[in-house]
Amino acid sequence: MLFHSTRGKDSNKDFASILMQGLADDGGLFMPDSWPRVDLDEIKSKTSFIEIAKCIVPLFTSSSFSFDETISIVESTWHDFEHQDLIGIKEFDSVSILELFHGPTAAFKDFGLQLAAAFFNKVLESENKTAIVLGATSGDTGSAAIDACKSYDRIKSFIMLPNGNMSEVQRRQMSTIKASNVFALRINGTFDDCQDLVKLAFRKRDFLNTGQYLLAVNSINWTRIIGQICYYFYAYNQLHQKGDLNFSIPTGNFGNVFACYSAHKMGLPINQISVAVNNNDILHRFFSENDYSKQLVHETISPSMDISVASNFERLIYDLFLDRDSSQCAAMFDNFPANPIELDSKIWKKKDNLFSSSKVNDLDTRNMIQAIYQSNGYILDPHTAVAAVEAFKKSYQRNHYVVLSTAHPAKFPKVYQELNIEINSLPVSLSNLYEKDEHLYTFDADYNQIINFISLNN
Ligand SMILES: *Cc1c(COP(=O)(O)O)cnc(C)c1O
Repeated sequence: MLFHSTRGKDSNKDFASILMQGLADDGGLFMPDSWPRVDLDEIKSKTSFIEIAKCIVPLFTSSSFSFDETISIVESTWHDFEHQDLIGIKEFDSVSILELFHGPTAAFKDFGLQLAAAFFNKVLESENKTAIVLGATSGDTGSAAIDACKSYDRIKSFIMLPNGNMSEVQRRQMSTIKASNVFALRINGTFDDCQDLVKLAFRKRDFLNTGQYLLAVNSINWTRIIGQICYYFYAYNQLHQKGDLNFSIPTGNFGNVFACYSAHKMGLPINQISVAVNNNDILHRFFSENDYSKQLVHETISPSMDISVASNFERLIYDLFLDRDSSQCAAMFDNFPANPIELDSKIWKKKDNLFSSSKVNDLDTRNMIQAIYQSNGYILDPHTAVAAVEAFKKSYQRNHYVVLSTAHPAKFPKVYQELNIEINSLPVSLSNLYEKDEHLYTFDADYNQIINFISLNN
């Protein structure tokens, strides 16, 4: 299986190349040349998440790694989860909560980033090279990237975080890691400032040693998507006897939704994918009004979904709406966000077979958390609650809905203090964060100062 860019000018790449490269040379996103098929009877017969992942991951890695190499990575990559099968499932009548937050950073991002880090390290070992991971984070990506990479000596991680709307727990998850190859950089600026600095660094690359890789950990990296595809098949394995699968997914950069769509293209029977957003509603405006245009970011109580554009969305436009026509895709995205995207209405209607969307404000998110707590004693995290609203609404029409639970509520303690809800069971990884010292390197949003620091520590 080889890979190519959604914009058509970077193709015939093997798995290791797109893993290490991240974004395609033409600014597009990498896609597999075709959708591999998965045997559903085989998936049904498996008895653990890892066994299911072994059916999925090798389908994408064969151009660079032997089957046995991939299997041995799959068997050892996911670590420090606090659930025997990595994922928990909480079943209400016709809504099931897929708990993806049992990893070491208490958000679903551990699934994709631990897999990516293990393959990064494998490539670095075989080429005897080192790498710098450079990323910007507004929430959970940074801590998952740091945690996933910290045990690999060949990788140094520099993660920029804004002085913004991230929770104190999220910040402490990054600032309290004691490892000589991890640096949390607090930038006096917004998340967009951090992202601009990262983008500039990827263009200039003037701080790297000879032969050193610069690695991107943002959600456009295809290997993160592979890790996420696995748990949609796991949901099928566990819940298929309940009838048609419907997923409600809390969404920011559309990575998780695109993984769901990918699973569908690989043979997973799905009736509906409900795309759930907070007040940052670019995706909801697209799915309900055919308007994909960038607006300012609003701060919400579900900060990991506070985005102005959804970076993985280009993949859906390319695959579903444009039938993989890369020149049309390039024309749209080369000019975005200056030119908003509006599809021909007949083409836009293709969404109706699979997608719906909903927008949930902070008040309704809080009400959802409160309602489920009072009726069932179960505590939804704010991101999960955004997706739960639509699932509970539609489940009354006798549909079974699976809600992706993307974070543990203890990451967002303020929300629960205001609701007078006490979180009793803290994940081990979050339990002593407030006793540890913070190591933060603070900078103005000034490229030269930051790069100087990276060079000195490289
Ligand atoms: C990253 C994140 C999301 C959004 O996921 P995308 O793949 O970017 O859509 C939702 N919830 C939580 C808790 C997250 O960390």
